[in-house]
Amino acid sequence: MHTFAYARPGTVAEAVAILAEHGSQARLLAGGTDLIIRLRDGSARPSIVVDTKRIADLGAAIQEADGLLVIGARAVMADIARDPGVRRDFAALADAASVVGSVQIRNRATLAGNICNGSPAADTAPSLLVFGAVVVAAGPGGVRRVPIDDFFVRSGVTTLAAGELVTAIELPLPAARAGSVHVRRTRRRGHDLASVTLSCSVDERGVTRIAFGSVGPRPILAVDVSGVLADAGAPAAAKAAVLERMFADASPSPRSMRASPAYRLAMLRVLGARAVLAASRRLAEG
Ligand SMILES: Cc1cc2nc3c(=O)[nH]c(=O)nc-3n(C[C@H](O)[C@H](O)[C@H](O)COP(=O)(O)OP(=O)(O)OC[C@H]3O[C@@H](n4cnc5c(N)ncnc54)[C@H](O)[C@@H]3O)c2cc1C
Repeated sequence: MHTFAYARPGTVAEAVAILAEHGSQARLLAGGTDLIIRLRDGSARPSIVVDTKRIADLGAAIQEADGLLVIGARAVMADIARDPGVRRDFAALADAASVVGSVQIRNRATLAGNICNGSPAADTAPSLLVFGAVVVAAGPGGVRRVPIDDFFVRSGVTTLAAGELVTAIELPLPAARAGSVHVRRTRRRGHDLASVTLSCSVDERGVTRIAFGSVGPRPILAVDVSGVLADAGAPAAAKAAVLERMFADASPSPRSMRASPAYRLAMLRVLGARAVLAASRRLAEG
């Protein structure tokens, strides 16, 4: 393995100072479930690894404040999946967190690490898009808030600037009653990244939000306000036409080893239709 220095700052300010000093040569370490693999295979070759686990003011809490659910950057998938507030108001995120890797992975993997890794297949990304999450980032210029739809660029690239670290992810509490769900397609059961990963929410006003990943360089959000998808009595052909429009920007890579573009697009349609039904059911069940 490539050798690197190791830093274990005690505060966000110290971490930001180290990141600012080393620029793109520094990499943050959270659970390490992505980074350690990349250090081992040499695809990441930082001069310094900055461990976030002892940063006292970088929280792992999941708590409500001022109309938001705030998930600290050190919160892990296992805690997110079982949190009562997440399960009640953001079920698709609880679903997504509960399918990441294995029990061992979920006990280490953070939500912040999942989105900062920038994988188009990140399972939590679609639900964060559906819920209009905001990423809170601290850097040399202070704190800024980035809407999640402005955060993802392409595989391995986000709009986080050099010197910045994510301190929390904020989810606005729902303005209307809604049901939501996360579904995905993998090549096999067990540990596998998704060939298609998709979240859907349907609210009582008839608005359907669907976000999907692993079918293009970044996850994509599409919103239907026509009410057709949410209407149990709407003809199947009308629903299929709306879904087709919502999936228009999907552009799976022909070079991926995981699935062909035709297969991914076919699965996107299947999962999209299933997710609308499942989210509508959850809405009806309250
Ligand atoms: C066996 C296995 C199975 C997996 N299965 C899945 C799966 O089913 N679905 C899925 O989506 N992922 C999966 N993953 C990938 C991985 O577990 C997740 O992406 C995880 O959430 C990463 O979080 P982490 O805390 O381990 O991040 P790390 O590996 O510590 O970091 C990941 C990246 O984020 C950066 N980073 C971390 N924290 C911050 C921060 N606070 N601010 C800025 N940058 C930061 C790091 O520098 C690094 O670039 C799997 C991985 C393994 C090894």
